[in-house]
Amino acid sequence: MSGEYAKDTICIQSGWKPRNGEPRVLPIYQSTTYKYETSEQMGRLFDLEESGFFYTRLQNPTNEYVAQKICELEGGVAAMLTASGQAANYYAVFNICEVGSHVVLSSTVYGGTFNLLTVTMKKMGIECTIVDPDAPEEELNKAFQENTRCVLAETIANPALVVLDIEKFARIAHNHQVPLIVDNTFATPINCNPFVWGADIVTHSTSKYMDGHAMCVGGAIVDSGNFDWSQYPDKYPGLCEPDESYHGIRYTERFGKLAYITKATTQLMRDLGSIQSPQNAFLLNVGLETLHLRVPRHCENAQKVAEYLESHEKVAWVNYPGLKSSKYYNLAQKYMPAGTCGVISFGLKAGRAAAGGMMDHLRLAAIVTHVADARTCVLHPASHTHRQMSDEQLLSAGVAPDLIRFSVGIENVDDIIADLEQALLKI
Ligand code: PLP
Repeated sequence: MSGEYAKDTICIQSGWKPRNGEPRVLPIYQSTTYKYETSEQMGRLFDLEESGFFYTRLQNPTNEYVAQKICELEGGVAAMLTASGQAANYYAVFNICEVGSHVVLSSTVYGGTFNLLTVTMKKMGIECTIVDPDAPEEELNKAFQENTRCVLAETIANPALVVLDIEKFARIAHNHQVPLIVDNTFATPINCNPFVWGADIVTHSTSKYMDGHAMCVGGAIVDSGNFDWSQYPDKYPGLCEPDESYHGIRYTERFGKLAYITKATTQLMRDLGSIQSPQNAFLLNVGLETLHLRVPRHCENAQKVAEYLESHEKVAWVNYPGLKSSKYYNLAQKYMPAGTCGVISFGLKAGRAAAGGMMDHLRLAAIVTHVADARTCVLHPASHTHRQMSDEQLLSAGVAPDLIRFSVGIENVDDIIADLEQALLKI
């Protein structure tokens, strides 16, 4: 269906396509396992000689149809769902890294991703060099080592709202013969397709706009199929050398452009088992059916809220890539001209101490550890999601200690502004 239909149509129609007499709506395949007629056929599945479902820890039809939809929205060749966005970023990196590998990581990635790479994956023998995404190319080039295996960054960083210069990052990654992995959670494929600008792998926390209703935690990985792993067998032995656990198949040889996702499914899902539950995949699909309607509304509302905050006397600064005053306005216009996201960050003149007090006065916007769903919500990262970071790490992640993250929902924007107005009056 890709290429044939616009994104709006893909959101509704892609993935599950019922044949004659089948359910109109994507069924939840609530089954751990799948029946086969002969033992020989089951054997062929285990040798990856035949495609088919065998156990839901690896793959499930409901998930597969939803992954196909996300794949088409991103313009990729293959995709998989994971239990969470954390699992998606973990698998995306671990699929091509092992002990002794090195990753170039943007300093502004989400705190959970930062922690995953710099603390947990470090214990697995995978090292990182943290780079400032705004640094000039010469500076960024210095971060690469002989054992570098990928670059990881976010299209729009959470919560710093740094817009990635995707072409610059793709160029430096490719100059060093490694892929660029982009977490496209905040922009969503409605606003930006990183593959168009040279990214090789895209990840998502589907828990955000894709689900859109804060109902289910989930993640996705999409491969563009553009990075030719087979050119670098020494760097990517896991993809290019025989896999003894599948009788010596070489993923690149057997699966071509599908090698990366096939390996992540048959090896990482098999061994680590972070599958998204089919029920969550079903709900995610319901969310995806309105993604093309919700995202523009989030952006439209956020633009108005950002402009309101910028003109407020008690507000010290506002960061929203849709504002002309934003350092990232031009990059946003280039990579996502239709809109960026619904998330705004701002600080109060009264400083960090006043942030919590103002938030406590909000009535419509709820204080939640979440972002990017239909309901307006608010968080103070330095006190909440990013509290494990030192002040120095906070600053290099683009998270000022006074930063309030305001996730604008799709309610009536006048009500959202009125809520802020009454809360700001009280401080
Ligand atoms: N990536 C980004 C950009 C995020 O904002 C988040 C969560 O906030 C994650 C990944 C992690 O996703 P999840 O919470 O679904 O594990």
